[in-house]
Amino acid sequence: VLELEGIAKRFGSEAVISSLSLAVRDGEILTLLGPSGCGKTTTLRLIAGLERPNAGRIRLEDDPVAGNGRFVPPEERGVGVVFQEFALFPHLSARENVAFGLQEWTAEERDARVTELLELVGLEDYGEHYPEELSGGQQQRIALARSLAPEPEMLLLDEPFSNLDVDLRVEMREEVRRIIKEAGVTAVSVTHDQEEALSISDRVAVMHDGDIEQIDTPERVFQDPKSRFVAGFLGHAS
Ligand code: ATP
Repeated sequence: VLELEGIAKRFGSEAVISSLSLAVRDGEILTLLGPSGCGKTTTLRLIAGLERPNAGRIRLEDDPVAGNGRFVPPEERGVGVVFQEFALFPHLSARENVAFGLQEWTAEERDARVTELLELVGLEDYGEHYPEELSGGQQQRIALARSLAPEPEMLLLDEPFSNLDVDLRVEMREEVRRIIKEAGVTAVSVTHDQEEALSISDRVAVMHDGDIEQIDTPERVFQDPKSRFVAGFLGHAS
């Protein structure tokens, strides 16, 4: 579904990513896991089209979207993004937030799609509520519903649980995984929290200094770390 090949990204003279390659499989949830500053968010932004790579190529659904002089802007990539702070529109109801990306649909199709999404995230009775009337977990559900509504090829999640109370995180990890799987979308998530990576992912890519050190199922990464860095990072923080 998604391929990154030899990607490099610099900010000024700082090389954040030097030669990163990654292939994401259809329908999987892949998590980029690593310490602060290793380039996870930058990688996600490159996939979304919010940054341009200095070198390398990105293909989405076999279409070149970046590299070789080509650059497809974010709105044409068919990628949904769930931001850390959810970024709901405060003056729009939950229904209107979910409907936001569906302006070009007919009113009837839009209503049906919004209802379907509210049911998927378990908030069918909250459509008329405004974000400030919703709990953190409910806001996250609406943010997910809004990103999934236009039927993206791929969903990107940047530290999706960092804005939630610790108690809610465990519940929402399971819920976010369920929702992504029921929606049938391929997802790339970013976190520095290994428990989160373990619980939501089909595969984990451990990042260090702008490169991927190991990519495998959560069980194998945790049980059989392939480098000193991976072992240290996982052992240290648990
Ligand atoms: P964090 O969890 O702290 O966000 P991260 O692994 O996601 O860490 P990035 O946000 O990708 O890391 O940042 C990697 C490096 O790139 C950091 O040193 C950061 O300061 C730098 N960086 C990111 N975006 C920019 C930018 N727009 N301009 C300049 N430097 C940037």
